[in-house]
Amino acid sequence: MHQQSPTAGPVQIVTITPDHKFILDEKKLKEILYHRRAQGKKISLVSIAGDFRKGKSFMLDFFLRYLRAKNQKEWIGKESEPLKGFDWRGGAGRHTTGMIMWSEPFIMSLPNGEEIAVLLMDTQGTFDSNSTVFENAFIFALTLLVSSVTVYNIMHNLQEDNLQHLSFFAEYGVLALDAYHTSPFQQLTFLVRDWQFEYETPYGFHGGEEVLTNRLQIRPNQHHDLELVRSRLRQCFRKVNCFLMPHPGLKVTNRREFDGRLEDIEKDFKTQLQSLIPELFRSDNANFVKEINGEQITSTQLFEYFRTYCAVFASGELPSPKAMLEATAEANNLAAKAVSKEFYTRAMEQHCGGDRPYIHPNQLDALHQEVYRQSIEKFRCARKMGGEEMSQTYLQDLENELAEQYSNYKKHNDSKNVFAFSRTPTTFISCMVL
Ligand code: GDP
Ligand code: MG
Repeated sequence: MHQQSPTAGPVQIVTITPDHKFILDEKKLKEILYHRRAQGKKISLVSIAGDFRKGKSFMLDFFLRYLRAKNQKEWIGKESEPLKGFDWRGGAGRHTTGMIMWSEPFIMSLPNGEEIAVLLMDTQGTFDSNSTVFENAFIFALTLLVSSVTVYNIMHNLQEDNLQHLSFFAEYGVLALDAYHTSPFQQLTFLVRDWQFEYETPYGFHGGEEVLTNRLQIRPNQHHDLELVRSRLRQCFRKVNCFLMPHPGLKVTNRREFDGRLEDIEKDFKTQLQSLIPELFRSDNANFVKEINGEQITSTQLFEYFRTYCAVFASGELPSPKAMLEATAEANNLAAKAVSKEFYTRAMEQHCGGDRPYIHPNQLDALHQEVYRQSIEKFRCARKMGGEEMSQTYLQDLENELAEQYSNYKKHNDSKNVFAFSRTPTTFISCMVL
């Protein structure tokens, strides 16, 4: 088990302004993704998306409980304990549209013993009907692109318009499949809340599969434009499943003073939480670790993807699937560059960082040559999208940035030399005496 610090909490990392601009708080995102616990580790990002006020944050707080109580049977908590974490009550207080990430990663082990960092992300849409469709589409797009597991939270039933939301992604997915032969998205889990037809179709993943199969069937009198989604959804996403969740009870939905305690929640709902959540966080699920272009990525790489996608969305218009594909290829190169640069910095820091003693310039140069060579090699070998021409540009950037870093290390090293000399009073005095 691992501890979260007492200050851990939700952090708004993406904000959407009233004129529909996406603003990424790079500093805050970096603090999370570069958290010491996540350093160098592969990551899993589990997100929840869907309409406003449908119990998303409430659900996420149970995810939090599960992750915090890792390996304990009684993870679900005590009967009279208020439910805390992501802010779920809506109602009072203003909500800022955007994306909210838990400030600290959780550590889990893969079946082979390797540790990975698990991150949780909440999304927040708007009330305002003018901007709802537009902004929610943005949030949904970014969520799907950066997450390994996306929970798509919907009320009552899986409807045509839920599939409609996915048509853009199916189109993008088909392009990506053609270009790179891997599906761009990992797991999409439809989470149907307040399922009312338990007598026909049972709660849980089994019932969900029935509903999903039924909705994805192509029939003669359906919307023609949804055909692509229907026929390709299971290809574009590596895993699509669906879970039917019962109503949590009237105390949850009607009582103003309800604080999330288990004793006020219907038994069926709690039973289904126990079945849904451990399944979502199974580390032997092949889609649990975030992959891009068939490669499992680290938090450093995810940071670059976030940045690039937010830049693509910054214009305030949803990009075309083709533009999305180009952005992904660019982000892919940027991420490979970031990893190579990180490798260079880490190796150099070890030998000539701030706390290391002065070394002879020839030795420093030999060190740089070797680490530089390895770093460039790392970039060349990384699987990259977008072809040779695109990666050449990024290789050039990498070479320039490493050269600049080297020049800084040299200066720093020289300064240590002077420092060492002037701080040696005995030498100084003996010179004077002579
Ligand atoms: P969000 O905007 O989707 O994040 O919704 P919240 O998590 O803030 O919850 C909004 C309201 O829905 C709260 O009053 C919750 O008590 C209530 N709620 C939570 N879970 C459910 C559910 O499964 N069904 C219904 N009908 N309401 C729920
Ligand atoms: Mg919420």
